[in-house]
Amino acid sequence: MPRIIVDDVHCKGCGLCVDACPKGVLALDMARITPKGYHPAKLVDQSGCIGCSSCYLTCPDVAITVVR
Ligand code: SF4
Ligand code: SF4
Repeated sequence: MPRIIVDDVHCKGCGLCVDACPKGVLALDMARITPKGYHPAKLVDQSGCIGCSSCYLTCPDVAITVVR
């Protein structure tokens, strides 16, 4: 099952990946703060990820890795 890994060091909480995900399974994690002070992106429904890489391609900071 595909999933993603978000690099907390590089994520700046911009939310572009959240908007880009066609399955709506990403959100900003309001319960966590990165070392740079942002709410990082998070996969909220792992079973819904189809591994399409839209989030990876959209992230301006290359903070997402898609694992298939
Ligand atoms: S790989 Fe595709 S489905 Fe999975 S979280 Fe990223 S944009 Fe959404
Ligand atoms: S697009 Fe990249 S930097 Fe922006 S919230 Fe998503 S993972 Fe973080």
